[in-house]
Amino acid sequence: MKRFDTQTVHLSKKKSNTIDSKITPIYQTSAFKFKDLDDLESFYQGEKDYLYTRVGNPNTDELGHAVAQLEGAPSGVATSSGLSAILVGVLAVAKQGDHVLASTDIYGGTYQLLAHELSDFGIDVSFVNYEDLKEVEKNIRSNTKLLYSESVTNPLLRTESLKNVVELARKHDLKTMIDNTFATPYLCQPYLEGVDLVVHSATKYIGGHSDVTAGVLVGHEDIIAKARSKVVNLGTNLSPFEAWLTCRGLKTLSVRMERHVNNAQYLADSLKEHQAVDRVYYPKHVSERGNGAIVTIDITDSCDVDTFFKSLSWVNIVPTLAGVETTVSYPLSTSHRALPEEALKELGITKGLIRISVGIEDKEDIVKAFVDALDQSYMK
Ligand SMILES: *Cc1c(COP(=O)(O)O)cnc(C)c1O
Repeated sequence: MKRFDTQTVHLSKKKSNTIDSKITPIYQTSAFKFKDLDDLESFYQGEKDYLYTRVGNPNTDELGHAVAQLEGAPSGVATSSGLSAILVGVLAVAKQGDHVLASTDIYGGTYQLLAHELSDFGIDVSFVNYEDLKEVEKNIRSNTKLLYSESVTNPLLRTESLKNVVELARKHDLKTMIDNTFATPYLCQPYLEGVDLVVHSATKYIGGHSDVTAGVLVGHEDIIAKARSKVVNLGTNLSPFEAWLTCRGLKTLSVRMERHVNNAQYLADSLKEHQAVDRVYYPKHVSERGNGAIVTIDITDSCDVDTFFKSLSWVNIVPTLAGVETTVSYPLSTSHRALPEEALKELGITKGLIRISVGIEDKEDIVKAFVDALDQSYMK
């Protein structure tokens, strides 16, 4: 019999290998154990999958594989956030001395990463308007390695012509990377259109419940293998519990998206009619299943923005998107606040611009909340 102090450390042990839980358990462990040196060697021979959680873990692998499958890609890796997925994706195809050509209207955090951090790695990044692919082509340099854009952009919801971007990239022997966070594989599968790397902030629709920060990168096996080694060496792995939660959320992606998308279309159509709304941004022809779950509105100068936000009753201001609850965000003071005035003007980020992440509530309640707030803030 071991003494008390030893028992407290060694008591809790897995009972048996015959427990067949319906759901993958959470492998909340930083490392995996080995019976003897031969057993340890078997990891290095590729016969055992797991050694140390930063190097690999069943829960994070489950997430990477699941998203890869939904995107129609052979391989995927989960990371600590959407941004770290973008980082390891870029580092898998570009190194010191290389150039990345990115779209101007990308997510604010991605802009910060590409514009201000990658230069410290010696990777040059420039930005160009992807609406004009001739302009994109003119900006390709001899050291360009990657074209980077988003399938549906934030917050003005421009949809990328993936086919044309892929064609341009192939002509110049470049890789392509597309952020598919807003569209999700429910609406759009860039890999199947020839895109090399598809990235997700799984913090958004993949997880879907606003309770995790996570990222996933999927694509060709060889590039994902490189990205995976970046995850291991930079330490941008996802935790097992976060991966487990994200996998749980992912199971309902289809039913959530179906409702999100229908509600968003209904809201976009309804707000178009309102006198206080100058413009409704909502994509067209994204997919046969619908056009996304984000609606961006530009309210007129005769509306008091402050009163509008205060009048939104149960709809909260939240600087993220894609939860089951309808929320609003204000790009000017959150995602795009770091941008200079000129860039804001060029991108169309105005004082009246409000991004709505349409939830899965009853669509009539959602419309009512916005119509009431618009009515109350409109100064006739
Ligand atoms: C949120 C978001 C990101 C960044 O993801 P994090 O999980 O916050 O790191 C990247 N791209 C898009 C389109 C996003 O919405």
